[in-house]
Amino acid sequence: MSLQERDKKHLWHPLKQHQTHPESLGIVKAKGCILTDENGNEYIDAISSWYTCMFGHCNDYITSRVYDQMQTLDQIMFSDFTHEPAVKLSEELIKILPKNQNRIFFNDNGSTAVEAGIKMALQYYFNIGEKRNTFIAFENGFHGDTFGAMSVSGLSVYNGPFEDYLMDIQRIPVPNGENNQAILNQLKQIVSENNVAGFIYEPLVQGAAGMKIHKAEDLDVVLKFCKENNILNIADEVMTGLGKTGTNFASDQVATKPDIICLSKALTAGLVPMAITSCTEEIYEAFLSNDIAKGFFHCHTYSANPIACRAALASIELLQSKEIQENIAYISNAHKTFLEEIKNHPKVTSTRCKGVILAIDLKTNANRYGTLRDKLLKLFMKDGVFLRPLGNTIYIQPPYVITKEQLDKVYSTIEKVLDTL
Ligand SMILES: *Cc1c(COP(=O)(O)O)cnc(C)c1O
Repeated sequence: MSLQERDKKHLWHPLKQHQTHPESLGIVKAKGCILTDENGNEYIDAISSWYTCMFGHCNDYITSRVYDQMQTLDQIMFSDFTHEPAVKLSEELIKILPKNQNRIFFNDNGSTAVEAGIKMALQYYFNIGEKRNTFIAFENGFHGDTFGAMSVSGLSVYNGPFEDYLMDIQRIPVPNGENNQAILNQLKQIVSENNVAGFIYEPLVQGAAGMKIHKAEDLDVVLKFCKENNILNIADEVMTGLGKTGTNFASDQVATKPDIICLSKALTAGLVPMAITSCTEEIYEAFLSNDIAKGFFHCHTYSANPIACRAALASIELLQSKEIQENIAYISNAHKTFLEEIKNHPKVTSTRCKGVILAIDLKTNANRYGTLRDKLLKLFMKDGVFLRPLGNTIYIQPPYVITKEQLDKVYSTIEKVLDTL
């Protein structure tokens, strides 16, 4: 029996209505940018398997570093012990993170990185004797699927059953230059009526919203206001971190630096799950006390797993290599050229790109998981390209190691599929 058939017996997939979508494609191999299914078909992974495998699947350098680590130290509690991969990773991350970051806290996925960031902000104020219980977040932000992360996420179409149990959040629109003053007025109102602990945002590119891009100077208007009002800025760089927007972190392009940063996805290059919540020394110091309860009692069993730390170290090393930096620049420029070509296509309403992220909005009212979206996905797969449209948005986020030929094939497949619509 095929994987696809055996799968149906016991498995429950994420983000899936099994009644209408019973099939899951069996993938048997992934190398570089190519996925191979159980029937031997090959696909270019044009979205880096949810923005993780930026150095290509099963990258030889990363897997060899991880293999070596597996022979020496696999897992150890991070509550009372420490180890070289974690220490080294903290040193390497602090070198490249925005200058105000000085502490690294480990988690195991993007949602829990956000969860820890939210708890850090709340407890920071608790520890210094201020009761603050609200967060500000963007209307269509996405920050994960655990309760805190779900609460701050504005994309709540699928959160219906949980809405009564979520935290109270104050939502603001994404600034676009024209609405900046209106947002500032709204922020003043929010601050006068609430005790706000933090503002959480996806800097420059909102991933799940459909790769929506905003300008650094507009975002900075909000960040500056929050800073001046002692609201902790929490940058959710789970998607944007590690080179996606053309700089190591999207926050590098924004004048006001965040107090807390969440990282995951590309951090471990898609090899193993891990996440990080970093913060300033000032936040960390508010947790130092002779009172044990002022410590941060948040822990995941696999915190700072040595193998995951080793994968992260290898990806940070690769990210900083001349080759990868050149590839990122190449992809960014290729995206711009392609968008010039495609933007006047009759099926296209708008286009945008930032770093290696490219998005095209189509002239249709496709539902997020509707039939057009399914049709598009099938057409792309038939042509050997794995793309996963979000509603009526087609986006690319290719591995940095994608070849010119592979990237051109992704572009031409998009063009071809648009022509058939
Ligand atoms: C994917 C994502 C998350 C959630 O990460 P998981 O590892 O899926 O829990 C949070 N924030 C952003 C911006 C993301 O893109």
